[in-house]
Order: sequence, then structure tokens, then C-alpha cells
Amino acid sequence: MNMRSLRTKLLFQYMTLVIICMLVIPAGIAYQMTYQFRKFSSERLAEDKQQLVSMIEENLAAGDRTGKNLHGEMLRWPVTRFCVEDSAGHEFFTIKHESSRKPAPDQKKRDRKVESLLLKQTLPLHDANGKEIGRVTFYVVPFNISKEGMFLRVFQRNMIAGVAIMLICAAIIAIFMTNKIARPVLETAKRAKNISEGNYRAERSTNSNILEIQTLLDSVDKLGEDLAEQEDLRKRLMGDIAHELRSPVTVIKAQLEAFADGIWQPTAERLNLTLAEIDRLSLLIKEAEGLTTLSKADGGLAISITNLSQLIEKSTLSFEPMFQNKGIKEELDIENGIQLVCDPAKIRQIIENLLSNALRYTDEGGRVKVTLKKEQKNVILSVKDTGIGIAKEDLPNLFERFYRTDKSRARESGGMGIGLAVVKAIAQAHKASVSVQSEEGKGSCFTVIFSTEKGLGC
Ligand code: ADP
Repeated sequence: MNMRSLRTKLLFQYMTLVIICMLVIPAGIAYQMTYQFRKFSSERLAEDKQQLVSMIEENLAAGDRTGKNLHGEMLRWPVTRFCVEDSAGHEFFTIKHESSRKPAPDQKKRDRKVESLLLKQTLPLHDANGKEIGRVTFYVVPFNISKEGMFLRVFQRNMIAGVAIMLICAAIIAIFMTNKIARPVLETAKRAKNISEGNYRAERSTNSNILEIQTLLDSVDKLGEDLAEQEDLRKRLMGDIAHELRSPVTVIKAQLEAFADGIWQPTAERLNLTLAEIDRLSLLIKEAEGLTTLSKADGGLAISITNLSQLIEKSTLSFEPMFQNKGIKEELDIENGIQLVCDPAKIRQIIENLLSNALRYTDEGGRVKVTLKKEQKNVILSVKDTGIGIAKEDLPNLFERFYRTDKSRARESGGMGIGLAVVKAIAQAHKASVSVQSEEGKGSCFTVIFSTEKGLGC
């Protein structure tokens, strides 16, 4: 296919349109003007001639064979003269057009030239009884060199000059308009190419006041920003995974080497230490798996009508041993028989993530309370703990992927900052909202609100 640049194409189309409009319309006007003007002139000439014929006939009837009563002034341009003769061809008289203007120096030469171009027309003369008594011959200047013709030519010349000026103006406007549309589009194309080459972030150098083009510019910018964010996240994830995995692997390796070299005897206590490190490693791997869940949570759900009360109760009770081990009191306040149209596996993931955070960030002697209730058209699930709490400045980013507060980083038991992002993604897939209330040192309360009005319901 013959590819042309947007600028060339737009310019070509604009100019074609302009040329068509500017040539066709003025040409039509000029044609109409010429036609009407010629028609008007010839009709007027015919009327003048007819009037003259009548006057000559009246004069001849009155016996005047010299034309003395016919004044030269009444002879109007373009009739230069007329000659009256009898039926036998004997001339009675000739009357010439007398110009009131001063003759030009080369007037004679001009007259001779005009004379050779004059058109002759002979009309019969009649008496009162309709009998032919002679004829009159008119000598007429042709239209092209008549005053009317000259006027028309000047008009046409001015019209052509006007059209030429308009064409130049239109070309300037077309170039300006083309640039206005083409520049941001070309810029966007360049930006999209840069993005495809991995240069995600770029300074916006152009804007457009055309809504669709501005939307395109914004979308491509947003795409670049999103990809840049994804890239940052990926890098952070790789760093985090490497960092988190490094220490248990190093410890396990060192311990196994110590066993192999006979430096350490494989006592139950020491083997338990190694086992603890392996547990930590498997927990980290489970967290990393959360990433896959995160992307799946954005996608399809396996929806069914679920007894949410039972689901939450079962999940919470499965955490009981872990809470007991850590000396945390678990409380349940679950309203019976709440049904929800949802993906039960994903909802289980929500409660498990919230409970494992509560377990992780609540110290011995603390309390964790799980509440499930129905309020009007909402089903509210909350997990409240008396743990370390979250600083105000961390709250806005808490549900971001890989976000961890400094406090949790300082803790041995910290995860990778995926759990809450998974909770949010699953909640969004269920058209539910998730929020947190927390005070540092006092505890946190995570609340998920399922709306039965927004599609998935009870
Ligand atoms: P992580 O795997 O690090 O726990 P999450 O996404 O589940 O990741 O949580 C993100 C961060 O939010 C945690 O690192 C922690 O700082 C904070 N956080 C989450 N739940 C709690 C809680 N119940 N109490 C205190 N801090 C919490």
C-alpha cells in the first residue's frame, strides 16, 4: 500500500477541498455574471435599435430625408453610426456617434482598427401602412471590445486576483491546521514507539485542544506510566524475593554444612532450628504464590451461592491453634445464615490473609476479633486486632503491592507486602470495598463491605 505521512495526507485533502471550493464557486459566479451581463447588453442594444428604427420611420413620414431631427447624442455606444437609405439603395443620411471625450493622439489609428471590427446589421423601414420604404444599417462595436465587454474583463481579472489571494491564505491556514492535528498525533506515535522500545517515561511536549487527540495523548501517557510502574514493581519484587530468600537459604546451608562436617551433632533441638528456617522459606514461597493469585483475582471468578457465615467460621477456626500457640485470644461474632454470591475460594483467601496479618502483627496477650454481619444491603466482614497498629502515613499505601511498613520490616515474621494487595484485588473483583482503621500501638481493624446492590449479591 502506498503509505503517506499524516501531514502530507491532511494537507493534500485540505488543499483539494480548498481548490475545489475556490475554483468552482468563483468560476460559477463569473460564468453567471458574464452570461447575464451579455444577455442584458444584447437586449438593451436590440431595444435601442428598435427605438431608433421607430424614430427614423417617424422622421421619414414627416418628409425629413436629412435626419436633422435625429440628434447624434441619442446614438448610444456600442452603435457607432447608422446609415439610412431608400429601397433602391440611395443613401438619405448617415448619423455618427459623437464622442464628447477629447480624441486620443492615435485616435485615427484606433478608429481604423475599430472600423475593421464593426458588426453590420440592416433592418427594414416601413411607412404607416406597413410598406417598406427603405432600410437602416447599424454599425455596432462587438461585445468583446465594447465598454461592457471591457467592464466584464476587468471584473474577471479582479476575480482571478481575489481567488489567487484567497488560495494563498487558504494554503497558509491549511498548513497551520495540518500541523495542529498532525503534530500531536505524530508525537503520540513517537511516544508509543518509545514505549515499545522500553522507554516508558517521557516528558509531555505537546498538548491538543482537540478532545479525541488529547484523550489519545493522555491514554498513551497513562500506558507509559502504568508500564513504568509495573517495571518498577517487577524490579522491586525481584529485589524483595532475592532479599527475603537469601537469609533462610544461607542459614539452612550453613547449618547443613555444619551437620555434614560433623561440627554440629544433629540433635532434635538443632534439627528443629533448621526446620524453622525451612518453614520460613516455605512461607515466603507461599507469599510469592500470592502474586499469581493477585493477577488471577483481577480476572475470572468461580461464582456460587455461598454460606458466608460457615465459610468465615471454618477459616477462622483453622487459625485457632496458631493463635493459641502465640497466646492470642480469638473471638468470633458471626451472624448465622448469611448467603453471598461469590467465589468461596477467593473469599477464604481474604479472611486468611487478614487473619495471618493479625497473627503476625499481634503480640502475645493480644486479641483478634472476627465479625460478620448483614446491615441493610451490605454484608460486613471485619478483622480487628490489638496488635502493633499502623502509622498514619502508611495507611494510604497499605494495599499497594509489596508495600510494607518499617515496623513490619523490622520484624522477623514480616511477609512480602502482597497479602493486602491480594485482599483488595479479590474485593474489587467482587465489587466490594476494603478499608482499614488503625492506631499505632493500639491495633488495627480491616473491614470488607460486600454490596448486594452492585451485582454480586445475597
Ligand atoms: P505482608 O505480607 O508484609 O504482611 P501485607 O500486604 O499483608 O503484606 O501487609 C502490608 C503491610 O501492612 C505489612 O507489611 C504491615 O506493615 C502492615 N499490616 C498489615 N496488616 C497489619 C496488621 N494487622 N497490623 C499491623 N500492620 C499490618
